[in-house]
Amino acid sequence: MRIVINGAGIAGATLAYWLRRSGHEVLLVEEAPHLRTGGYIVDFWGIGYDVAERMGLIARIRELGYQVKEVRFVDDQGRKRGGFATEAIVAQNAGRFTSVLRSDLAATVYEALDADVETIFADSITAVDEHDGHVTIGFAHASPRDVDLVVGADGLHSRIRALAFGSDSTFAAPLGFHVAAFEVRGYRPRDELVYVVHGKPGRQISRFAMRDDTTLFLFVFRDEYLGSHAVVTEQDRKAAIAETFSDVDWECPRILSAMEAVDDVYFDGVTQIRMDRWTKGRIALIGDAAACVSLLAGEGSGLAMAEAYVLAGELRQCGDNYSPAFALRTAPDALSRTQAACRGEVRVVVRTRDAGRPRVSQSRHRPDAISNVRRSLSRPQFARRYRDAQLLGRAGLKR
Ligand SMILES: Cc1cc2nc3c(=O)[nH]c(=O)nc-3n(C[C@H](O)[C@H](O)[C@H](O)COP(=O)(O)OP(=O)(O)OC[C@H]3O[C@@H](n4cnc5c(N)ncnc54)[C@H](O)[C@@H]3O)c2cc1C
Repeated sequence: MRIVINGAGIAGATLAYWLRRSGHEVLLVEEAPHLRTGGYIVDFWGIGYDVAERMGLIARIRELGYQVKEVRFVDDQGRKRGGFATEAIVAQNAGRFTSVLRSDLAATVYEALDADVETIFADSITAVDEHDGHVTIGFAHASPRDVDLVVGADGLHSRIRALAFGSDSTFAAPLGFHVAAFEVRGYRPRDELVYVVHGKPGRQISRFAMRDDTTLFLFVFRDEYLGSHAVVTEQDRKAAIAETFSDVDWECPRILSAMEAVDDVYFDGVTQIRMDRWTKGRIALIGDAAACVSLLAGEGSGLAMAEAYVLAGELRQCGDNYSPAFALRTAPDALSRTQAACRGEVRVVVRTRDAGRPRVSQSRHRPDAISNVRRSLSRPQFARRYRDAQLLGRAGLKR
């Protein structure tokens, strides 16, 4: 089949890889002029790690990644006030855990395509017209083409979702936070393999020392700090971050001053995408476009890879008849059963030392607010549920 994928990120490149191996003719479309670089770092483990292993990519991902040793909470003076060593998390995952730049992960998957998949950069699908057993797609720049299937792997603000399923407001569930990130060269101090976090109520800033003398900064803050400012340009983004963190101590003044020279600030709302169906006719969604769980949940990149893998496997099972494969891509079956199984409250317990005295603070979250199905389940349980829904088991793709 001729299959076009909008978005050459983690989900899109993974899907292209597996579809190509089944002999499909694949076209990737990416709006950026080249693969995106920088951004932020993701913890990578679980089901996505399994898929990457089947693609033979683990060695490269670990080479590009970081084996973080400690998460450290510091006070205004930079003194350690809490935190944890990551060894328990790594051990729980039998060492199958690393932290890697989102862009490095996407590039590693893309490189595995071996230039065997046509990619159009600096363009985007702007029209999808399904008729007479195929889909005519229009581009912002390229000439229209006829294809058999269209897959939106174009992230949280998916164009394909908007074109085929409806506006963002129908599916987007903002979680009340914004996130921003940027990289600075030559910043001091550096704490190698330590994720350093400083927080005030409603605002948090983290720094992580990376290779090539680069430091990554991540800001998360409640929406109310943003006020009613429209944040459109790079200058708006910097102004919003500077204003929000203007009264925060620690290294904040130095970090904000370093931000002035940065030319690529990531900035977005923390939002989930909640849909009942991920297919419509010959059009499907995967990754954040279909079911963004958000950074508060984690493992979105692993989910994106698993969704791509499962969809490719189902399409292979179904030959040229895509309908049964797409019919399986309704959210409810596997996920709602799992969500139902983990209703109740998730309790987050943070132990800190305040003036020498241990202090325990607890916060409670409804899991459907976090909507991270996998966090409540161990990996074998998740795999079993997928097998129950005849997904992972049927896919059974091999490298
Ligand atoms: C701050 C932060 C921290 C995170 N931490 C983690 C973590 O620790 N672990 C984890 O697993 N996940 C984490 N995530 C989530 C993870 O990054 C996403 O779930 C994952 O990147 C989703 O992959 P994707 O391919 O679906 O989308 P994306 O990675 O967003 O890729 C989409 C691609 O589509 C392209 N595109 C967008 N619009 C168009 C268009 N109109 N036309 C053509 N192309 C388009 C984009 O340029 C991009 O290349 C985090 C997210 C954030 C924001």
